[in-house]
Amino acid sequence: MTLQASPGRRAEAQVKLGVLGFTRTAVNFAGGVAGRVLSWASFSAVSRSGKPVDLNSGNSSIEDEDTDGSDENESIFENFEMLGTAASTTSPGSRAGASVLGYSGYDGLMESEVWSESEPASRPSGADALAFAEAGGAPANANWQDGSFATPRHALSSSVSSHDTGSSRSDPVRIVIVGGGFAGIRAKLCLDRARLENCVVTLIDKKQFFEYTPGILGALTRGGWESLTRSYPRRGFVQGLVKRVDLDSVTVEAGGEFRVPFDYLIYAAGGAYGMQHSDPSGVIKPRNTRARHAQNPVQTVERWNDVVGTENEIADAEHIVIIGAGYVGVEWAAEIAEVYAGTEKCITLIDRNNEVCHSLPAAARQHIQSWLESRGVDLLLGARVLNLNKSDQTVALQVGDESRPRTLRFDLCLECKGLRPNTDALRPVFASALSGDGRICVNDELNVMSSDGVLKAHNIFAVGDVVAHKASARWRGMALYAELQADIACANIVASLQDKPARVFPSDVTHVDAAAGIPVAQVVSLGRLDASLRLEDFVVNGFAAAWLKVVMEETKLLEAAGNPAGHYFWQISERALMLVWRKFLVKSETKQSPKQASSSSTLMPFNS
Ligand SMILES: Cc1cc2nc3c(=O)[nH]c(=O)nc-3n(C[C@H](O)[C@H](O)[C@H](O)COP(=O)(O)OP(=O)(O)OC[C@H]3O[C@@H](n4cnc5c(N)ncnc54)[C@H](O)[C@@H]3O)c2cc1C
Repeated sequence: MTLQASPGRRAEAQVKLGVLGFTRTAVNFAGGVAGRVLSWASFSAVSRSGKPVDLNSGNSSIEDEDTDGSDENESIFENFEMLGTAASTTSPGSRAGASVLGYSGYDGLMESEVWSESEPASRPSGADALAFAEAGGAPANANWQDGSFATPRHALSSSVSSHDTGSSRSDPVRIVIVGGGFAGIRAKLCLDRARLENCVVTLIDKKQFFEYTPGILGALTRGGWESLTRSYPRRGFVQGLVKRVDLDSVTVEAGGEFRVPFDYLIYAAGGAYGMQHSDPSGVIKPRNTRARHAQNPVQTVERWNDVVGTENEIADAEHIVIIGAGYVGVEWAAEIAEVYAGTEKCITLIDRNNEVCHSLPAAARQHIQSWLESRGVDLLLGARVLNLNKSDQTVALQVGDESRPRTLRFDLCLECKGLRPNTDALRPVFASALSGDGRICVNDELNVMSSDGVLKAHNIFAVGDVVAHKASARWRGMALYAELQADIACANIVASLQDKPARVFPSDVTHVDAAAGIPVAQVVSLGRLDASLRLEDFVVNGFAAAWLKVVMEETKLLEAAGNPAGHYFWQISERALMLVWRKFLVKSETKQSPKQASSSSTLMPFNS
């Protein structure tokens, strides 16, 4: 079937594109101005109060102010301990690449000659993970399996520093965040804004930038990937692949293996896409590169190559089969249908359910289905994949109760069947905390716990897509909830430092009984000019939803870049969402009493 152009008029599409373009420019301009004003205001207020400056307020001129004369990067690298032996010759390529990108955060590493084509460093033994607990006075046999855990170092000391106590201690509290996706970057910015004294917050990610995943399918089809990325904060960021998590440290591959000790860990490594590493759909999330390429300039180029390579594969393929008509499969089919409208390209979207996006309300499903059909996308619903032969490029299907299976030929097969959680690094020590689908189990305080609920790691939190939380099945895989979990984990680290009660997820976010869950809010894009937005059972279809998605994208990118305007925009939006949910959508028996609600936290309990 030939792909059809939009049934609407060309002029109408041009006007809509103009509105979206103007919206992007306006949001960025307004966000830039407001961000500078807010940064200046907070800088002045902090200077007057004599409290430490918010180093990641989003205003580079303020960021660059070194208020106490110390170099935060240095303190991060002081925490590194090299494992095994690495050759001492620094790779000239990596030096050159780093300087081309002008990224100063690596100076410490480069000076310590770790940028080298090293021998594979030896892994720390299991005993390494326990050494800290033993040294800290915990029982000698303390480990994950027997229920005795490493006590955070600050808790072993009588002189914990905090704003509340005003006491001082010499060793900083080390907070490490693994993964700089929606959850990880939120946690990093949140803890930086909290201005905790005597704390070193380190974000570790295998790539050098935040990438806005909800826009990636458009970028993979029509280009523009660069506009979806934002550099991580320069202070307190380390690029490297986390290979192993122990009770008190993580092992990082960054041109050699390093052990990074922590007092608190937030594990936010998200998930990988595609069933296998080499699957074309694996490109949706940045893929792990080979160890010797885990250096910043190389990986950025590799990611770019991966994205452009997929764009070319899509352009070259005549028949594209997409397996899975959830929101990822649907959005990708819609992007291809829009970009290649009027061509001979053929798209077949396959799902075993009888409807696309079967978890969405009927009004959204119907809109999506008729949009796809009107553009010439071939829908094969109620179809079970019997055999996918990648070398022959065929897929055998049982469609409904047809007597004989069908076989389809394809040039490109995109499997959109969900995420594989990135929990390999946890497996050696936390195997008993992994759920059947490989996610990491957490309790309501978001501490990692064993799947039977008996064991709990007090100083290790997990948040976002990587998590199996008992109430999460309905809204798992959404950026907003990854971020709200990050807020709770940060609040609980601060609560632990200040000896205050912990917050629980989700009721300290929603202020309703946990049984009510959390509001489900989603936008499914249909190309650039159409979308379907749902908040629980309310649905908005059409251009208004697409426009809202653009506003969300631009403001999210502002927030990820540390712009305070983006931060406050989302703080207000999240509060508004929860208010609407509480007032209009939750049944009265699951609402908390005003007394309960006032004793609960706000969304950002220490950061408003
Ligand atoms: C195509 C698509 C569209 C989507 N659209 C929407 C949408 O419209 N709205 C919505 O709410 N949600 C959407 N989602 C879901 C949303 O993107 C996820 O819920 C969100 O990204 C989860 O955030 P996270 O921080 O848990 O994980 P991620 O965003 O996956 O971040 C994980 C981070 O960890 C890093 N990492 C992983 N392993 C390691 C390691 N070993 N060492 C170092 N770093 C590591 C990764 O580089 C990454 O930066 C979409 C998802 C996809 C795939």
